[in-house]
Amino acid sequence: MEEQTKQNYIKAGRISAEVLEYGKSLIKKGNSLLETTELIEKKIFELDGKPAFPVQISCNEIAAHFCVEEDDKTVFDEQVVSLDLGVHVDGAIGDTAYTVDLSGKYNDLVKAAQKALEEALKITNVGTELRQIGKVINDIISSYGYAPVRNLSGHGLDLYNIHTKPTIPNIDNGDKAILKKGMAFAVEPFSTTGNGVVHEQGLPTVFMLEHKKPARSPITREVLKEIKRYDGLPFAKRWLTKKFGAKANFALRELTQLGISHQFPPLVEVSKGIVAQAEHSILIDDEGEVIVLTKN
Ligand code: MN
Ligand code: MN
Repeated sequence: MEEQTKQNYIKAGRISAEVLEYGKSLIKKGNSLLETTELIEKKIFELDGKPAFPVQISCNEIAAHFCVEEDDKTVFDEQVVSLDLGVHVDGAIGDTAYTVDLSGKYNDLVKAAQKALEEALKITNVGTELRQIGKVINDIISSYGYAPVRNLSGHGLDLYNIHTKPTIPNIDNGDKAILKKGMAFAVEPFSTTGNGVVHEQGLPTVFMLEHKKPARSPITREVLKEIKRYDGLPFAKRWLTKKFGAKANFALRELTQLGISHQFPPLVEVSKGIVAQAEHSILIDDEGEVIVLTKN
């Protein structure tokens, strides 16, 4: 890995950590989801980063991929709130998440995810089998009496590619592939009061450019030009509706139908269990040193 790339990962991680702290401070009863999301996204730019994906604030049984629309009126009240954000510096990504329990009832659920992450990081080294990380996560979360979400996982972080190999499981999935020098990846345990499975449910508000093909209508072509500025990384419908109004909805439908863009609907726990998440990004450098990028 080039030294500049390594420094970019370190910078992206440091910014992510700072923005996460800021974001946590905004998750308070009475604050709006929309304003909080936009303040956090603004902070990323202020600190000289770019969003690696839209800021996601998923509540209660929603595990991930919830991103507010422009007209959202939700106000924080008694939810269990998972903030997940990513920052990139020239494509090098830091991806991190934290859950705030505003209900006062799920402190242990939050702790289970955090402790699972902490313990997983202790065994994160060159040569660690992926299944071992999953086993630790499952063991810790189970010891709190909860289930890990087994069809969500950590993932490799390539330049301008947020979800790549390897898959870092949240259970022992039998994968004996090992962590190696030069790998960047995210570890993200989810704990739930439910069965531990999520499925797609609800309107997608997060999209990603998948295939660069020409679009038909002039409106869609105009929107596509803007989408190309996101460097192939996920983007929010809100970013487009703010700029293009309702035309953006039309364009996104056409782009999805043509297979040009891919949509990511919210991921909801199937048994409506409450979900908590914790996430850090890690770089194992060429010398084998393990750097937790998003810890401050
Ligand atoms: Mn994340
Ligand atoms: Mn992630």
